[in-house]
Amino acid sequence: MINSSLNTKIFLTDSEFGELFGPGIARLVGIMNTAATDICPRCNGYCCKNIGCLFYSEYFSTCPIFDRRPRECRYHFCNEVFTAAPLTREEKDLMQQPVEDLICGSKSEIAKLFFLFPEFPLDEKGLMALGIKDEVRRIIVDFESGKLKEDEAFRMMRQLCRDDAVIPS
Ligand code: SF4
Ligand code: SF4
Repeated sequence: MINSSLNTKIFLTDSEFGELFGPGIARLVGIMNTAATDICPRCNGYCCKNIGCLFYSEYFSTCPIFDRRPRECRYHFCNEVFTAAPLTREEKDLMQQPVEDLICGSKSEIAKLFFLFPEFPLDEKGLMALGIKDEVRRIIVDFESGKLKEDEAFRMMRQLCRDDAVIPS
């Protein structure tokens, strides 16, 4: 069942994600994450780039905000990862259900609680709404031009991920 205090929160910890989606889904996502650990480094973030995430740089070794990335990232796995993950057919079916089925809500409740779920909160429009677009861009530019080391860029980006950032209504 949905924890209403988390339903519009953008930056989620592991435990908040587990609380939002429930322990069953969190366990399956953990198995998918383990499969992704082997596959994603070779791909260098194709999906992160494609979705227009402004936190992404092809020169980062990993996601700069991995431990607080939003639910959209936490629930996304491409077919290669999905195929490689050691899940049973039933578990894979469960993972493939639409989000609204997974969280056991009515359509109207979901529309109200996850009204912007199909939109990605960390693209240009999303970061403009959060007021951090220019700062994130500047960190990326400084990192890619060699002015910032990766650990410093990651630290600065994590500081921009405010705990009270929510999907705008
Ligand atoms: S989920 Fe798939 S597309 Fe995205 S980074 Fe991993 S391997 Fe690449
Ligand atoms: S926040 Fe999400 S889309 Fe952006 S780099 Fe991290 S995992 Fe990729």
